[in-house]
Amino acid sequence: MALYEHSLPYIRAISPYQPGKPITQLAREMGLSVEQIVKLASNENPLGMSPKAQAAALAAMANVARYPDDFALKQALAERTGLGMECVVLGNGSNDLLDIVARVFLAPGRTAILAQYAFAVYPLATLAAGAEAIVVAARDYGHDLEAMQAAIRPDTRLVWIANPNNPTGTFVPYAQLRAFLQVVPVDVVVVLDEAYNEYLPPAERVDTTAWLREMPNLVITRTFSKIYGMAGLRIGYALTSAEIADLMNRVRQPFNCNNLALAAAVAALDDHQFVATSYALNRSGMAQIVNGLKRLGCTHIPSHGNFVTFRLADAALVNQKLLQQGVIVRPIAAYGMPEWLRVTIGSEGENARFLAALEASL
Ligand SMILES: *Cc1c(COP(=O)(O)O)cnc(C)c1O
Repeated sequence: MALYEHSLPYIRAISPYQPGKPITQLAREMGLSVEQIVKLASNENPLGMSPKAQAAALAAMANVARYPDDFALKQALAERTGLGMECVVLGNGSNDLLDIVARVFLAPGRTAILAQYAFAVYPLATLAAGAEAIVVAARDYGHDLEAMQAAIRPDTRLVWIANPNNPTGTFVPYAQLRAFLQVVPVDVVVVLDEAYNEYLPPAERVDTTAWLREMPNLVITRTFSKIYGMAGLRIGYALTSAEIADLMNRVRQPFNCNNLALAAAVAALDDHQFVATSYALNRSGMAQIVNGLKRLGCTHIPSHGNFVTFRLADAALVNQKLLQQGVIVRPIAAYGMPEWLRVTIGSEGENARFLAALEASL
């Protein structure tokens, strides 16, 4: 009790992140074998990771006695984006980077702006830094950038934007986003989280990294956890001005990315075929699931990611019935959406299992 009382009040106010239920946990709970379970709860790539990245990670095992060397990955990312290496910061997953930015710019007495239904890590990182989160009401489940701009106060130091957003899958058109960035005061940092960027149709994708040249207050984060299928290796990156990158590097743990992840990421960037295959599988799987949801009469939010969120009369009950059938999806009551479930797009077979289990649960 005394220890609890002595902890920081703003830490005590945090409700912990709720991850997707692990496969082994459901197996124990339901007495199922691991093979009987389909997990579509954490936006993981059903294809796993690129075989080339896997080979690179295995080869890097030979070097694990050495501290990690991040030069090759930073160089590869700088090359791909046309930015200098001094503009690249690596993270132990992009979550790590969100936390690092928060620690650089937030503290008690400061505020950060985020959208209702935005990714859960934004309030977590904000509160863990002792700052206050200003939550701006969503518009059609997505970011209302005009309202977010209006919410900026003199003590606001940071704005969080997920594009596409998780768990809603909403997407702010680039023209709107750019207009917003141009009116945000230059002394307010904007974090643009593009974890699902690679799932956008290439023809619709704008190279936001080009905006960094005119916007020193912009931080773009991306990850190897989603389309690259490396969630368990924990690696992501931030692209930003040299000024912000330098500040982030001051609080970043010196060796926050491990050898295996670094080597795998370099190889993954070069495996365009794997990314293209993953993209195509997601497109067809999205159509399969959306058609299935329509057939079953479930409303869904059109999604730009590798998941889709859908509405039910009793989401908690349906979730329980899905679990009994060995299908793990994500309840999002903690986001203030108790009537909704989020399902990750899996392989064709996994999607079919999910739809059959859903039908049996309704
Ligand atoms: C999955 C996700 C991330 C990435 O998390 P990692 O730490 O890179 O695994 C970041 N932002 C959003 C919105 C996500 O959904």
